[in-house]
Amino acid sequence: MDAVTVPREKLLATLKAALPYGILLSAKDDIERYTRDWSGDHFGMPLAVVRPRSVDDVSLLMRCCSANNIPVVPQGGLTGLVGAAVAAPGGGEVVISLERLNKLRSISAIDFAMVVEAGCILEEAKRHAEAEDCILPITFGAQGSCRVGGNVATNAGGFNVLRYGMTRDLVLGLEVVLADGRVWNGLKLLRKDNRGYDLKQLFIGSEGTLGVVTAVSLKLFPKPTQVETALVGLRSVSDAMALYARARRECSDLVTAFELILRGGIDIALGARAGLRDPLSEVCPVYVLIEASAGGRVDLHAILQDFLISAGDLIVDGVVASSRAQGDQLWLLRELMVEAQGRGGRYLRTDVSVPISTLAGFVEDALQALAKSHPDALPVTYGHVGDGNIHLNVVPPVGMDGRAIDVLFHETEGVIFDVVDRYNGSLSAEHGIGKVKQQAFLKRIDDVSLDLAGRIKDALDPGGIMSPGRIFPPRASVQETGER
Ligand SMILES: Cc1cc2nc3c(=O)[nH]c(=O)nc-3n(C[C@H](O)[C@H](O)[C@H](O)COP(=O)(O)OP(=O)(O)OC[C@H]3O[C@@H](n4cnc5c(N)ncnc54)[C@H](O)[C@@H]3O)c2cc1C
Repeated sequence: MDAVTVPREKLLATLKAALPYGILLSAKDDIERYTRDWSGDHFGMPLAVVRPRSVDDVSLLMRCCSANNIPVVPQGGLTGLVGAAVAAPGGGEVVISLERLNKLRSISAIDFAMVVEAGCILEEAKRHAEAEDCILPITFGAQGSCRVGGNVATNAGGFNVLRYGMTRDLVLGLEVVLADGRVWNGLKLLRKDNRGYDLKQLFIGSEGTLGVVTAVSLKLFPKPTQVETALVGLRSVSDAMALYARARRECSDLVTAFELILRGGIDIALGARAGLRDPLSEVCPVYVLIEASAGGRVDLHAILQDFLISAGDLIVDGVVASSRAQGDQLWLLRELMVEAQGRGGRYLRTDVSVPISTLAGFVEDALQALAKSHPDALPVTYGHVGDGNIHLNVVPPVGMDGRAIDVLFHETEGVIFDVVDRYNGSLSAEHGIGKVKQQAFLKRIDDVSLDLAGRIKDALDPGGIMSPGRIFPPRASVQETGER
């Protein structure tokens, strides 16, 4: 079907007639806060914002949009940063915000599982788990803003992936409203279930293109009674990787986080807040923030201390936090670096991954390539070593104008992705493809993968109304509005 242009007012009237009172917003002031993502880099003007109070509301919306060919974009906490969760600028898409579907439906410390609605903020879901002496291990800087449905739709990772896995590894089941409005109830608590295809996997990481996740059943774990944090300085990324390989074995696989930060990141963090001191007495080119956790009768402090002493050939300097507060101070450096890295302006974000064993070579080659092609740009490098996931961000020189920054970002991203390709890596290990990475993704995807992905999309969303133009280009048949 060709695109049809329908006046905005007519589409709004259709939506209002189909939906219960009080869940649709269309006035400019009311929808303002749904138009921009966490970074402020991505903006979109929706036709309307729908805030369902129940799964039935979501179903009604999808039935109406499917019947009238109106595109829908699910929105969580807007921290995805690839232009996927905000509407297109033209005003033709309906944003469905899950923020009011945010309840805990059930939790069991025996099943070590919880069922939570998709709009629950991750930090809140983690608090529900802690109230039962459990943890939901998905942990990262945006946890106070992102929502569980967004975590599922992006297969979020974070600091604890090396011990507990990504969101994909933690999802036991999903409830999803399909593009045609039918509700798929796959909310299982089962650990083992081999009845046919594992359909939930299709929706995990699908970036809102296959259905609206309305509830999630998640694995929980016993809350550790001991947490130890250390920051060590090293001579090179190679030494950091050698330390990583030994840490997992020698600490009885109790390491939960192993965060790499190059010196530039520490400088940024120290400059971000007055009164912060260099954490170690020696200035090192590379730092690693290590966290280990355990419960029961394990002397975790001794395990970590002994390990760090035994790794003295690799470690130049280090500190083990003597209290939780001191541990938090070490983590603060990591957080401040992320917040302050752009010097208050724009910077290029990448979230690439390579096989863990090749990470040191990758970082060295990528930094060399950047220094050669753009010596005046400032790279900021850090990442979650446990999942081979590195941020190689690029900060423009002070005073560079907007157009030159666009060119710099385009070129440096190309330089980094070329090195990622040489290492058989992924150009997105965190944020997904969205709109921002689409071109680079399509350039690299093989024909068979593209064909299979297209068939899945056609099967689940035959009208192409779910988040059109995210991951893949939009279909011509999707509705447009007359007034822009
Ligand atoms: C400071 C910071 C640190 C971060 N650190 C990490 C990290 O360590 N690891 C990591 O993996 N990511 C990280 N991220 C990225 C981001 O937080 C995650 O991708 C997060 O899971 C997005 O959740 P959200 O609720 O904000 O989703 P949104 O940004 O609102 O949406 C993201 C995508 O999911 C879709 N979506 C949202 N909700 C639903 C739903 N209910 N049903 C279907 N589709 C839906 C949207 O349409 C969009 O495509 C970080 C981001 C920031 C800002």
